[in-house]
Amino acid sequence: MESLYALRCPKCNKLYVAPKYVCPNCYNTSFERVELPPNGTVETYTTIHVPPAKYKDEAPYNIAIIRLENGLYVTARLLVEEGKAIKIGARAKYIKTDSRGIPIFSI
Ligand SMILES: [Zn+2]
Repeated sequence: MESLYALRCPKCNKLYVAPKYVCPNCYNTSFERVELPPNGTVETYTTIHVPPAKYKDEAPYNIAIIRLENGLYVTARLLVEEGKAIKIGARAKYIKTDSRGIPIFSI
């Protein structure tokens, strides 16, 4: 099973899911990789029907904010079984990160 990773700034302890070269909090430039919990809950989501041109073949798709068990928020694609509704607060599980660096969760 793949794991979800974040970068932790060793100076100020902030966690970042998106790659960073400089810590926006303390301007430190080195990070350590830490594994994140694979489970979270759906905080909010939206379904994209009219995507940017480069994602046009993938619509409609769901973008969700997932709150992980450690309190960190991750923006991710959310896969849902056909005909199933997304509920705020639903448990979401990390599947993988795609080749573009987008985390994918499912409920
Ligand atoms: Zn920092």
